[in-house]
Amino acid sequence: MKQEILSQIPAVNDLLAAEFGQRLVEDYSHQLVVDAIREITAEIREEVLTATEKELEVIEFDLSSRVILKQVEDYLKKEDRLLLSPAINATGVVIHTNLGRSLLSKSAKQALIDIADNYSTLEIDVNTGQRGSRYKNIKEILFELTGAEDCLVVNNNAAAVLLALSSMAGGHEVIISRGQLVEIGGSFRIPDVMERSGAKLVEVGSTNKVHLADYQQAITEETGLILKVHTSNYKVLGFTKDVETQELAELAHQKKLPLLEDLGSGIFVDLTDTGLSYEPTVRESIEAGVDIVTFSGDKLLGGPQAGIIVGKKKYIDEMKRHPLTRALRIDKFSLAALEATLKEYRDFEGAKSKIPTLRMLTVSIEELKEKAEELKEELAKALSDSFSFMIRKNISRVGGGSFPLEELDTYVIELKHEILSTEDLAEGLRASYPPIFARIANDAVLFDLRTIQRRDFTKIVELVKSLD
Ligand SMILES: *Cc1c(COP(=O)(O)O)cnc(C)c1O
Repeated sequence: MKQEILSQIPAVNDLLAAEFGQRLVEDYSHQLVVDAIREITAEIREEVLTATEKELEVIEFDLSSRVILKQVEDYLKKEDRLLLSPAINATGVVIHTNLGRSLLSKSAKQALIDIADNYSTLEIDVNTGQRGSRYKNIKEILFELTGAEDCLVVNNNAAAVLLALSSMAGGHEVIISRGQLVEIGGSFRIPDVMERSGAKLVEVGSTNKVHLADYQQAITEETGLILKVHTSNYKVLGFTKDVETQELAELAHQKKLPLLEDLGSGIFVDLTDTGLSYEPTVRESIEAGVDIVTFSGDKLLGGPQAGIIVGKKKYIDEMKRHPLTRALRIDKFSLAALEATLKEYRDFEGAKSKIPTLRMLTVSIEELKEKAEELKEELAKALSDSFSFMIRKNISRVGGGSFPLEELDTYVIELKHEILSTEDLAEGLRASYPPIFARIANDAVLFDLRTIQRRDFTKIVELVKSLD
């Protein structure tokens, strides 16, 4: 019986000669299609050979060319997929570092395509035709947004901190408050970065309190710099005391020292009007007298990965000459997307709808409810009775180490299956294409509408349905 079934598998050449086979050869290549046919037919052979007699009676093997070539096509498509693939973020965490942090605005995406398709003015002066600076393109817009006289952009904010410390502290002591020895994950710890930069750490104050006098007393001949790190991913609450940035800047300048501030997730506009709590803006730091401020491009700013350094020209000039700058510099794609993102901020009201990160952070609860109802309706139309789903109020998070305590009201769809466990459901969703990442709570899978894009509704419904 087995031999009989096996003999029905069409020959490679016959499959190749079929019209469908020819079409696949045109779309892929002769070799790839031959390899795929061998793979698929070997799988079928294996399946037949390992099946019990009983299974053979039950399973119907459809060995027509059309059916086999359809499997070959699916196989080729799957092999062609990139492993770094789009994903659906149903977690409600807006700046989700593991899912790629920020989505880009339309203008930023267009900038990427234009730069990919063409030669560009990356490092050329259009007036003289001579070599120009990579950073000239964004200097003016960063001045508009922050008031800083000069800028430099590197790969990410971790690189910005490393470069600024290496260049400005130059092997001398760096004074920092104990309450600001931040770890931001991925083994980026401020004390470790300092060590790499050659600077020596001098901690002042206690975990919850630091006074101006603590800084004052720590300053010696060996001091190279005062560092302030914005504790963006945690808050010290209760019996606390911090030194105002302006006071710290005045002290530093009195002692002829620079003040460096790592803002983490920098913002240009105070977001309290949108219901979020207060976070310092880059301009406030510059106006308070900070000499150099560093921040990320892809956290609250909602742009591409980048480390933005703004501040006094004399320190920026020194950084530009530092050997690390070449190793840490930003690439042309990120730079193009960053310029486009920054320009959106000229009209902040517009930016709130055009920059996806800002849009998701400021979306109204009414709209989230509407989205939940729409998705629920589509699920109801497509899914069997094995699934149950309910709309519930819940909380989403900002993520990316920003606004650690902020709880954003949201609506979620709570999904359950009568046979599949919650873990099985979540695993199935992750294994689909594109993968869906959701939260698990109350023994259900939660789809948070804050980070789900409407354009993905149909896909989500199809993928959930296929798990049944
Ligand atoms: C996120 C963060 C960084 C690192 O920024 P990346 O852009 O992720 O490299 C550094 N410092 C602080 C305070 C941060 O919050």
